[in-house]
Order: sequence, then structure tokens, then C-alpha cells
Amino acid sequence: MSFFDKIKAGLKKTKEGTASTINSVLATFRTVDEELLSELEDALILADIGAYTASEAIDELRRQSKLKNLQSQDDVAECLAGILADKMVPNEGLQLETQPSVILMVGVNGVGKTTSIGKLGAKLAGEGKKVLFAAADTFRAAAADQLSIWAKRAGADLVRHSEGADPSAVIFDAVTAAKARGCDVVICDTAGRLHNKQNLMNELEKMRRVISRELPDASVETLLVLDATTGQNAISQAEGFDSVTKLTGLILTKLDGTAKGGIAIRVSASLKVPVKFIGVGEQVDDLLDFDALAFTRAFFDRKEEA
Ligand code: GDP
Repeated sequence: MSFFDKIKAGLKKTKEGTASTINSVLATFRTVDEELLSELEDALILADIGAYTASEAIDELRRQSKLKNLQSQDDVAECLAGILADKMVPNEGLQLETQPSVILMVGVNGVGKTTSIGKLGAKLAGEGKKVLFAAADTFRAAAADQLSIWAKRAGADLVRHSEGADPSAVIFDAVTAAKARGCDVVICDTAGRLHNKQNLMNELEKMRRVISRELPDASVETLLVLDATTGQNAISQAEGFDSVTKLTGLILTKLDGTAKGGIAIRVSASLKVPVKFIGVGEQVDDLLDFDALAFTRAFFDRKEEA
């Protein structure tokens, strides 16, 4: 299956749900008038793109329709796909320049963090990188057990301590092991207890201190994992994490399970953080590099629904 087909398959529910509402509005196209623009704006809001971003996108469509003299529903769909893609922060991929580099994975329990670490580890291993997982969510014993299963599947090394251990001590050991073994990437699981912001902030800062002391010039990515099916909740979590730590990217999981895939546009536009990957299933290869324009085009592709 091609990359584009995979995005389209992952967005099946969205295409059948809110995107088909947008497409049925477009199907009524005669000319770009205020009625069409207002119906499109409502349909974008229904797709969870967010009222603010939807209104900005429609203003831009109004402007561009005059400039470009849009003549057909295809023209409007292509123009709107471009406008919505531009609302998102461009994804320049992971910045993993050093050996080792570090990826801190943050997010609340249940969003698909462990699964995403596994998938990402397998993807990087598939690119020929030597990967090590650090089980620094020491809050739940099951977290490290689950991570060890994914480590085997992904062909990654694992560093773990017992339940209740200091997460920064796990990071220290993981970084030390990575240096000794010549690993390329250390992917760190972290506990996601957002209800205690101060603790979370302290814990993440301590981990960062250990990393910058042991690997002063290392590339460090901090990726927030969000469950796309949780809508407004995902936005609140994103704002919460953004206020405690600097995020370099987002992973939006379970896009296959929502009819409101527009959340990807909303979260990137409101947080000004790029979506770097999307999860479209539970299998190891169901993590896709995010491409904003391919995503919004898949969103509007009506040919697939005929
Ligand atoms: P964690 O508590 O954040 O570590 O979450 P897990 O990684 O354990 O995932 C929670 C559940 O979500 C598991 O049943 C995963 O299989 C499922 N899951 C994770 N990512 C995806 C995805 O992209 N699509 C679907 N359909 N399920 C996913």
C-alpha cells in the first residue's frame, strides 16, 4: 500500500464522517458565494478543525477565490487543502543529528504512548539505527513490561529499573548504556501525570538535566502523544504539557478511530508545534510520517468515495 493510500485508509472514518459533510457541501458548488463559504465553515468546525482556524481558513478561501477565479469544486477542494495545510507548522522530521540522540515521549496514560514508542523504535531500527528504550515511567510496573515486549518486536535494547525507581536514574543508565553500546537513539518513556503539574515539570526538568549533563550537545526531541479520538481533551492535554515543557513535535494516535481527523490541523495550528507522526492502527507499521498537504488532500479526496 502506498503512503498516500495508507493515509487515506487511516482517515477512512473521517472521510465517511465529517470530511464527507465537507465534500457534500462542495458537491453543491455553483460559484464561491457567501452561502457556500458559510456552509463550508460549519463543516470545518464539525470536523474539529476549531472555530478560529475554520474562520481564518474561510477568509483566506474567500480572498484566494477572487485572486485565482476558482471555477469548480475540485479547484475549491485543492485550494482549501492548501490553505488548511498552511495552517499547520511544517514537519521537518526528527532532528537526530548526534549519536546518541534522545527522544523524550510525554503524554497521559492510555493515549498510545508505549505503542508509539514501539512503532517509532521499529521505524528507526528499520532505517539502520541502533535504538535503546528507557523505561522511565517507573510509576506503573506494567509500563516497563509492555515496553519490553515492544523492544523485542522493534529490535531495540531496553533499560529498566524496578517500580518506583527514580526516573532520572533510569535515564542516566540508559544514556550511559547508549554511549557504551554505540546506540544512535534513546527513546524515553515518561510517566504522564498531568494532574500534578508541578511534579511533572520537576520530573521532566530533572531528566533534561541528566541528559544535558551526560550528553551536552545531544539532539533532544520532546514529542507529545495525543489520542485523536478525545477531541477537546487532546487540546487541553496539549496546552497542559506545552505549559510545563518545551515540545518539539506531536504524535497523534488513533486517527483511524475518529471521524474528526481535523483535530490534527487544530492542534498544530493552536499550539504552533508540528505534527511529526500519526498513528493509524495498532500494528508496528501503523505510524506514518506526517505530511500536512498529503493529509489535507486525503481529507478532500472525493474520488475514493465514489
Ligand atoms: P499508553 O498508556 O499511552 O502507553 O497507551 P498504549 O500504548 O498502551 O495504547 C493504548 C491502546 O491504544 C492500546 O490498545 C493500543 O493498541 C491502542 N493504540 C495505540 N495507538 C493506536 C492507533 O494509532 N490506532 C489504534 N486503533 N489504536 C492504537
